[in-house]
Amino acid sequence: MKAVQSDSLKYYEFNTFSTHDVVVRFYTRQGGISPEPWSSLNQGGTVGDSRANVIENRKRIFDDIGRPVESIFDVWQVHGTDAVCTSQPRELTSDHQKADAIFTNKKEITLFMRFADCVPILLYEPEKKVIGIVHAGWQGTVNAIVKHAVRKIQEEYDIDPEKLIAGIGPSIGPDHYQIGSDVRLRAEKAFGTVSTSVISTYRKSIYLDLWTANEILLRQSGVKNIEVTEVCTACHTEDWYSHRKENGITGRFAAVAYLR
Ligand SMILES: [Zn+2]
Repeated sequence: MKAVQSDSLKYYEFNTFSTHDVVVRFYTRQGGISPEPWSSLNQGGTVGDSRANVIENRKRIFDDIGRPVESIFDVWQVHGTDAVCTSQPRELTSDHQKADAIFTNKKEITLFMRFADCVPILLYEPEKKVIGIVHAGWQGTVNAIVKHAVRKIQEEYDIDPEKLIAGIGPSIGPDHYQIGSDVRLRAEKAFGTVSTSVISTYRKSIYLDLWTANEILLRQSGVKNIEVTEVCTACHTEDWYSHRKENGITGRFAAVAYLR
C-alpha cells in the first residue's frame, strides 16, 4: 500500500489494484473541515458532526477524484451479511438501503463506504470488470459476509472467484483488537480448527485478528490473489479514525472504488 498526497487530501492505494483499470482509494482524515473530535475529513453522518461539514468533506473527495457526487452509491452499513449489486447510483435525496457489501459493473458509479476500525475488503474481477467493497467488523467476520459477497457476485455476474483480486484495507490490527469471551466463543464457532490462527491471548487478554480471519474466508471462497495492507487504524490515528482507540467518539473515513 502506498500513500499519495494530492492538492489538499492524502489517500492510500493498494499496490495490486493500481495496475488495473480501476481506482481504489482510502482517504485519510486529513484535509477536511470538521472540528475535533471528528477532525477533519469526516464522512460519517451519524457521529454527531454537522451535516454541512459532512457534505463539504464528501464534496472534497469527489472533487479530488474528478467525478460528480451524483455518481455515488453508498448504503446504510448495519453489520449484516447482505450484498447489493447496483447498476445505478443512489439518488442523493433517497434513503440508503441496508447492506454491508456493494458491487457494480458500471463505470458511471462511484462506490463509497465508511470505516473506523472495521475491515474494508475490496474485490475486483478484471475480465468481467466488476468492482466491490465489503464492510466487515467482528460480526461481519464471524458471519462470513465476504463469503456471502463472493457467492452473490458469482450468481449475479457469473464470476470465477479464482480470477478475483482482493485487498484488505486499513482497519484495526490484531495488536489493538481486544475482545471479550463472548466474541471469542463466536469466533471459535465460526472458524473451528483454524480459530487458533485468528485468536490469541496475551497476559489474560484475548485478541482477534480480523485481517487473517478475512483472508481465511477469502481463501475458503476460492480467492487466491489477496493483498493485506496491515495498516492498523488504532496505531495511526493521525491518518485514520479509530472507534476503539478514540472510545467511540470519532468520525469515519471513506473507501472509494470505481471502474475506469
Ligand atoms: Zn494497532
